[in-house]
Amino acid sequence: MEPLQVGVMFWTGGDLATQVPPDQTVRMVSQLGVSCGQLGIHPGAILNNEQITVWKTALDTEGMEIVTVFSSYLGESYASISTVQKTVGFIPPLTREEREARTYECSDFASELGVSSLATHIGFVPEDRTNPDYIAVREMVRRVCDYCAQNDQIFALETGQEPARTLRDFIADVDRENLGINFDPANMILYGSGEPLEALEIVREHVVTVHCKDAKWPTERGQWGTETPLGKGDVSIDKFLTKLKEIGYWGPLVIEREITGEKQQVDIRAGIAWLEELRALLPTAKKSDTRSNL
Ligand code: MG
Repeated sequence: MEPLQVGVMFWTGGDLATQVPPDQTVRMVSQLGVSCGQLGIHPGAILNNEQITVWKTALDTEGMEIVTVFSSYLGESYASISTVQKTVGFIPPLTREEREARTYECSDFASELGVSSLATHIGFVPEDRTNPDYIAVREMVRRVCDYCAQNDQIFALETGQEPARTLRDFIADVDRENLGINFDPANMILYGSGEPLEALEIVREHVVTVHCKDAKWPTERGQWGTETPLGKGDVSIDKFLTKLKEIGYWGPLVIEREITGEKQQVDIRAGIAWLEELRALLPTAKKSDTRSNL
C-alpha cells in the first residue's frame, strides 16, 4: 500500500446500502478509482464460509485491499444523538452479550479475509470511571482486544461521540497494546465533541486509520451537525492532511460519505480527486516515517 493511499468506506450489501452482491459492490468501489477501502458489515450480514469465499473472490478479482472491517449491530439507531446514546455499540447493557459475540464473528471474518484491523463505534463512553456501564464496557473492550490479538488484529475505536481526552483516558485505562483509533474528524463536529485538529493532537499516538469526512457544526446543542461533501464543511481537510503528516501518519485516507444513492458516488469521486491533489502537494513520504500499524 502506498503512503496516504486514498480509499473508500463501503458496506456489505452494496450501493453502499441496498442489496447488491459482493462482486458488484467491490466492482462499483473499484470503478470509483480506488484499490483500498474499509468494509462495514451490516448487522444482518451472514458471515459463513460461503460468504467468506464470495468476498475473497470479489476482492481478489478487483485487486481491492481491505484495511479495516467495521462491525455494527442489530438495534442500533443513528436517528438522533440521544438514540445513539441509548442504542449504539457496547453501551446498552441488554445487547452487550450478543454484540460481543457478533464482534468476535466479525473479527474472524476479517481474519479470513486477511484484514489486520477491526473497528467499531462502541458508543458513548461515560466519563465517570465508577459508572457500572463504564466498567462493563472497559472489560468488554479488553476481551475484544484480546480476541483480536489472537487474530493478529488491532481493535480500533471510531472517534466522535466523546471528547478526545475522555477517549485517550479510556484507552489508557483499557491498557491493551492492540487498541487504537479510527479517527473521524467530521464526527467530532457532528456530535459537537471538540475541534477535530485539536482532538487529533490529543489522541495522535493511537491513530491507526482515518476517515476523510466533512461536516458543519450543530447550530443547537444536543442536535446533529450536518455531514457535507469533502471540502464543504468545517473540518479544513487540507489542514487535516497537514496535521496527519505532522504526527507521522502515512496510513490510508479513507473517504466516508454517509448518504445513499447516486450523489454518494458523485461526492466520493470528487473527494478522491481532491484528496489526490492535496496528497501531491505533501512532501513524499519516507517508509521510515511510517507509524501506521497497517
Ligand atoms: Mg466514520
